[in-house]
Amino acid sequence: MKDVILTGLRANDELTLGNYLGGILPIIEIQRKYSQQYQINMFVPDLHSFTTPIDHSKLQDSIINNLKVYTAAGLNLDDDNTFIYRQSYIPAHSELTWILDCFTGVGEMSRMTQFKDKSKSNFEKIQNEVIKKIDSNKTKVRNLNESIDENYSIKQLKKVFNTISELYIEKYDEIIELLKDRSNFNNASVGLFNYPVLMAADILLYNAKWIPVGEDQFQHLEITRDIAERFNKKFGPIFTIPKKTSEQVKFINRDKGLRIRSLTNPDKKMSKSNQNPKSKILLTDDPKQAYKKIMSATTDSIGQINYDWQNQPGITNLMTILSLLSNQDIEQVKQTWVGQTQYGELKKAVAKAVADFLTDFQTKYNAVDKAKLQAKLEQSEQAMNKIAKETLLRAQQAVGLRP
Ligand code: ATP
Ligand code: MG
Repeated sequence: MKDVILTGLRANDELTLGNYLGGILPIIEIQRKYSQQYQINMFVPDLHSFTTPIDHSKLQDSIINNLKVYTAAGLNLDDDNTFIYRQSYIPAHSELTWILDCFTGVGEMSRMTQFKDKSKSNFEKIQNEVIKKIDSNKTKVRNLNESIDENYSIKQLKKVFNTISELYIEKYDEIIELLKDRSNFNNASVGLFNYPVLMAADILLYNAKWIPVGEDQFQHLEITRDIAERFNKKFGPIFTIPKKTSEQVKFINRDKGLRIRSLTNPDKKMSKSNQNPKSKILLTDDPKQAYKKIMSATTDSIGQINYDWQNQPGITNLMTILSLLSNQDIEQVKQTWVGQTQYGELKKAVAKAVADFLTDFQTKYNAVDKAKLQAKLEQSEQAMNKIAKETLLRAQQAVGLRP
C-alpha cells in the first residue's frame, strides 16, 4: 500500500492570477513530483462548498469549471496514481462525519478560529450593509440642505424637511427589515461549525498521512489527529493518524509564501474579493484588457528599477509575475531589469507575458475534454467508494452499528 497524499481542489469562481500561481500550480506540482511513490487523492469538497451561503443554481457548473481550471493548468487526468473525486459522491464522508461528531467536544470545536472569523465576517457584512444604506442618503440630504438659502419661504423649508424625514423613514424601515431577518444577521450555519469534523472524515476515510495544507488549516488538521487518537484509544487501531502539521510542512511546503500583490495597491495582496477590477487579473480576463491593467499598474516615483518589496512593491511585483510566467528564475529577471529607468518597458514585457499566458490558458481551458474528465471522476469515485466503505465499516463495527 502506498502512502496517501490528500488535498482538496477548492471550487471558486473568478480565480485571479494570484490564486493560479499561489494556489493551483502548487497542487499540480504535488502530482508531478509525488505521483510515482504515493497515491494522490484530490477531491472536490462539494459538501464544504455551502457551509457559507452560495448561489446553489451555479454549484454544478462551478464544480466542473473548477476541475477544468486545474486540468488546463496541467493536472494530469491520465495518471493512475491520482484519484479525482467529488466528496458528495462518496456517502461515507457524511456517514463518518456523524459518527465522529459524537466523539468531538463542543468545547474543542468552539476554539476553531476559522469558524470564529467567518461568523464574525457575517456580522461585519450586515454592519456594512447598514452603513451603506445610511450613506446612500447622505448626499441627497446634503444636496437638499445646500439648496436652502435665506430667501426660502417657510412652505419650501417645510417641504425640504419632509423630504429628509421621508428619506430617513424609508431607510429606517429597510434597516429594521435587515436586522429582523435572523438568518441575515447571524447566518453562520451549524455546517460551518461542523466543517472540521467533515474534514476529519475526508482525511481518515482514506488513511491519508500527508495533507499539504496552508496555515489556515493547521488547526483543523490538529483536531483531526485529536479525534482519531481519541477514537483509536477507545476502540483500537481503526484510523491511520495523519502526520503532525510540523512534519507536513517539512514534507510538502505547499504555501511557499508567494503573494502576488494588487495592481492598484501593491502594499496589499491581489485578492479575488477586491471590488476594483483593475486591482486583479482574472483567469477569465480578455488578454487585451489584462494588458491594459498591467500597463496602468501602480508603481512608484523612484525612477529606477530595483527588486525591493519594501520600497518598490509595485515594480517588484511586476518582476515577480514576469519571472513566474516566463519561466525564468527571478535572478535572470533581475539581471535584465534592475538598474533600468524605463518602467514602461518593463510593463510592456510583463503585459505581454500576462496576455500570452491568458490566451494560452483560455485556449487550454476551452479545449478540456469534458467526457474524459467525467470518466476520470466516475472511475475515481468507484475506487474511492470501496476504500472509504472499508474504513467506515471498521468505525461502524467499533461503535456497535454493525456486527
Ligand atoms: P479572498 O479575497 O476571497 O480571500 P483570495 O484571492 O485571497 O480570495 P483564497 O480563496 O483566500 O483567495 O485563496 C485561494 C488560494 O490562492 C490559496 O491557496 C491562497 O494561498 C492562494 N492565494 C490567494 N491570493 C494569492 C496571491 N495574491 N498570491 C499568491 N497566492 C494567493
Ligand atoms: Mg484570501
